[in-house]
Amino acid sequence: MRLRAQFGQTQRQVPRYPPEDGRHWLVRGAYWHVFGDTRWWLPLGERLRARLVTLLEAVTASQAPQHVAFPDVARADLASFADALTSLLEAHVPSYRHLPRCLLSHTGERLTAWVLASDPEAARETAAQIQGQWEAVLEGLGLPLFPGEGAEARWGLAPAAHGQEALRCPACGYAAPQPWATREKPHPEDEAPQPLTPVATPHASTIQALAEFLGIPESQTAKAVFLRTQESHPRLVFAVVRGDMQVSLPKLSRLLGGVGLEPADEDDIRRAGAVPGYASPIQVHDAVVVVDDLIPLSPNLVAGANREGYHFTGVNYGRDFQADMVADIVAAQPGDPCPHCGRPLEAVLAWPVTHSRGLATDVTYLTPEGKAATVGVAVADVDLAWAVAALAEHARVEDGLAWPPMLAPYDVHLIALRGGEEIAEAVYLALQDEGLTVLYDDRKASPGVKFTDADLIGLPWRVTVGKRSLKQGGAEVKPRQGEAEIWPLEEVAPRLRAWYAEHRDDAA
Ligand SMILES: [Zn+2]
Repeated sequence: MRLRAQFGQTQRQVPRYPPEDGRHWLVRGAYWHVFGDTRWWLPLGERLRARLVTLLEAVTASQAPQHVAFPDVARADLASFADALTSLLEAHVPSYRHLPRCLLSHTGERLTAWVLASDPEAARETAAQIQGQWEAVLEGLGLPLFPGEGAEARWGLAPAAHGQEALRCPACGYAAPQPWATREKPHPEDEAPQPLTPVATPHASTIQALAEFLGIPESQTAKAVFLRTQESHPRLVFAVVRGDMQVSLPKLSRLLGGVGLEPADEDDIRRAGAVPGYASPIQVHDAVVVVDDLIPLSPNLVAGANREGYHFTGVNYGRDFQADMVADIVAAQPGDPCPHCGRPLEAVLAWPVTHSRGLATDVTYLTPEGKAATVGVAVADVDLAWAVAALAEHARVEDGLAWPPMLAPYDVHLIALRGGEEIAEAVYLALQDEGLTVLYDDRKASPGVKFTDADLIGLPWRVTVGKRSLKQGGAEVKPRQGEAEIWPLEEVAPRLRAWYAEHRDDAA
């Protein structure tokens, strides 16, 4: 590829956004253009992405994957997605003869493997296995990952200075993205249930004010959060956690089949028979009540009386109210006890690069015995944008990027300087004849500009042909992070081909 004709300019001005991490260097090296929240993959970036996808797909060969184009599960409206998945399976998986299958889709910025198996456990195991193979590829490219788990999902997290918040246990290594992290829950002591008693609590419409007013810890209160589902017929959702904990919206959304959630307004709350600021699940109607699994274990809580200025004491789950669902819906916080070993969790910043989980479905197929069994479905995916950004962050040196040879968008960065133009053309052809891909800087620009661009782009080898190198006996050849040497012209292409044969096993 001749740089003269290439679309995409390296950026000398340091962009204010993205922050100075892998994304910043991708913008400077003309891999990405970033505008607001949108990311535009330029020709160099697209080559890099295609290369990464090729490497990732190659390791799934043993699953005999078939390519499909499916919606992006991470972005789809999950409620309608579940219906779509059901119709897909009903139409295409009638019996055991159509299982197992592995499908690969590559939409937008995500590579996804869809695993269909004879039961949910087998599907999850295969998806986790594919995820492990992908993580091995990424680690082979120099990207350190640490595992995260939670809500029946697994993640591979890449530490990043400006990443998303995750929680990690320094003692046992448990980790998860913050909204999905779990914590060890307290074990409240048994108490005899007290009678449900209204108490006047004027001006105590927050948990903190209530706890102070009654002189009790926040852990003895129940906190109500009202939400509305983003559906054509919105449902009102009433989530209840202990007053000292926070609701995890992603966990709640997943429990409800993946619907989007937004805060309910006061009218919604009053329609369900509750009073804002003094709300509790006692006597609410026309709402889906979801309580955290700690609530049924916590006797004699204080909760709203659904009456302005009043709370109840002695609130007990089962006797005073019921829930439609009981599950872990709490978002763990830094300092909370690790679910495995009880030590305090620490906040770390990371990008969730890989992910796998089972997808719930109740579609059945016919077994060899003619019985109905549930189709197992699981997905594994790689977020290609986070992967490339994290790889860039780890592939950068002081003055630009330094891609590993397996991933670099081109093998050789060839530079023609004054007096070497004609011979550089010959080297360009010779390198390609050896099967190498070449980014050829044939522009009329100063050596300084060309060398700076080569550093920003970060290919493994730089070959320079100019009056000076020719006088010294050939081309100046420099590995990205090594010293320049003069090689005789006729040796350049075969020696680089031999080097690549040793350092890249995809040969393609
Ligand atoms: Zn731990």
